[in-house]
Amino acid sequence: MVSKDRFTDYTGKKFHRLTAQWPAGRNKGRMKWLFLCECGNISILTPTEVVTGHTKSCGCWNKESRSIRATIHGMSRQGAHNLIYDIYHRAKNRAKKLRTSF
Ligand SMILES: [Zn+2]
Repeated sequence: MVSKDRFTDYTGKKFHRLTAQWPAGRNKGRMKWLFLCECGNISILTPTEVVTGHTKSCGCWNKESRSIRATIHGMSRQGAHNLIYDIYHRAKNRAKKLRTSF
């Protein structure tokens, strides 16, 4: 008999910045999946939080929007800002490469 759990195959499905790769096991009865973020990071998440849009990225989106806000307010013009800017651009380039490889 098939187990009572409904198994949805999310492989290759993309939600916002995250693309489902493969099932990564269970945590407290909930199915976890390995998601690849556009920035190149991987995250283990429950599909529900991704499908509902609760989680849109590995966390890079939050970081980026924070740095964009900081730029708008002109609060970080030196040092730290350059670093964030650099990380942001590298992430963006990696995302571009990932997209073209499809
Ligand atoms: Zn990311």
